[in-house]
Amino acid sequence: MGEPITNMPQFQDEDVARKVLEEMRWPNGVVCVHCGGVDRISKLIGEQYRPGLYRCGDCRKQFTVTVGTVFERSKIKLNVWLYAVHLMSASKKGISSLHLQRMLGVQYKTAWFLTHRIREAMSDNPEGLLGSGGGTVEADETYWGNSKRSKAGRKYKGRGGDHKEKIVSLVERNGRVRSFHVQAVNGATLREALTKNIAKDAHLMTDELPAYKSVGREFASHEVVKHSAKEYSRGNAHTNTVEGYFSLLKRGLIGTFHHVGAQHLSRYVNEFDFRYNHRKVDDFERASFALRGAFGKRLTYRA
Ligand SMILES: [Zn+2]
Repeated sequence: MGEPITNMPQFQDEDVARKVLEEMRWPNGVVCVHCGGVDRISKLIGEQYRPGLYRCGDCRKQFTVTVGTVFERSKIKLNVWLYAVHLMSASKKGISSLHLQRMLGVQYKTAWFLTHRIREAMSDNPEGLLGSGGGTVEADETYWGNSKRSKAGRKYKGRGGDHKEKIVSLVERNGRVRSFHVQAVNGATLREALTKNIAKDAHLMTDELPAYKSVGREFASHEVVKHSAKEYSRGNAHTNTVEGYFSLLKRGLIGTFHHVGAQHLSRYVNEFDFRYNHRKVDDFERASFALRGAFGKRLTYRA
């Protein structure tokens, strides 16, 4: 230890970075990304070939480790990619494109492209339903206003909140989170988010918003915390976990991403979900989860 992270070989040397990616994508040997063949793969070595190029004798096609990933067809060096993934995975509140630009010494356009693609790699939702096996899931909604900084992050209901972006989060106690940027907070949107993501045998905790009432009957139990009556917790009935998550999310949005446009909000929220869902591992392991998310994820994002 003691060596600055920047100096690690995979962040300095493109060949080392490629090797790291190859070992991660193909832990049991190179697999053809086109046909799945493993028996007749040869590495193409020589001046005339791109580094890291393979040829499959079964389908006769060529490929590299980046084919079909968010790294595909970019001129950015793989070691720069890896460093950017590491920085975004390690940062508690996220890193803006501007900040990344300075840290990597690249153009803003490049940094913007990197952050958006890496965010995409982080968008994998945890598998399965939340709270299955009788767990507890807290659901809550919050509002994010982009136009007025002074109100940003303040939570309120009704009273002209229509211009605010709406985020619904479902958090397992001591577990995972899934968040959604929704067009409206009402019985229909909450029903969809909750029934598709929370197990029937889970115990649901919400505040007193009437829209939760009907969908609440779909679960093993539904406890309501009455915030209006200054009741913040009643024994085990509380929504402190999801509220803690919102405060983390908003600190990040206010501190780092104050210009988040509505069209990008769900990607930022995914990024925060990702870090929360991998909070119990170290920065390197979290980054490797992000890299795994990058494989098999061809981007539809236009730079
Ligand atoms: Zn093949």
